[in-house]
Amino acid sequence: MNGKIAKWLRILGHDTFYVSSAVEDSSILDSLRDRVLVTRDRDLAVRAMKYGKSCIFVPEDLEDALSIISLKFGVRLKIDLSTTRCPFCNERLVRASREEVRSKIPRETLLSHRKFLVCPLCGKIFWFGTHYWEMLKTLSRVKKKKYERMEYWPMMRGDGNDL
Ligand SMILES: [Zn+2]
Repeated sequence: MNGKIAKWLRILGHDTFYVSSAVEDSSILDSLRDRVLVTRDRDLAVRAMKYGKSCIFVPEDLEDALSIISLKFGVRLKIDLSTTRCPFCNERLVRASREEVRSKIPRETLLSHRKFLVCPLCGKIFWFGTHYWEMLKTLSRVKKKKYERMEYWPMMRGDGNDL
């Protein structure tokens, strides 16, 4: 799976295991268990399907890939603060007060934001700045792409719960 897709799936609240493309295909397939394999590697996708694994082959473009994953597996294109995960280590994020993050972030950030999320595992701190708003814009474009795909593939309509 591409690293960016893994980060996005975690942000969207999905327990996501990332494996570098340098890892042997057979090790990837062995470690899958009941997870869905998301890959840009067509050969690996074919092998996974031969082994009876759930698999989705996605295109290079991140937004196209997310729209397809959302369509096929009903992944909600919404950042839910109660389920969102650390994009770096997959741990579920928890809310933190200003006091809790005071010594760990720049003063300007502390003064201009009120809500913070913290990763209990790697300690990274997140807030709702420019990056967050850019992510919402990306999700909005992904939804549009999903919508367009639904028009062409009505049989893949799914539950459409995020539209
Ligand atoms: Zn983390």
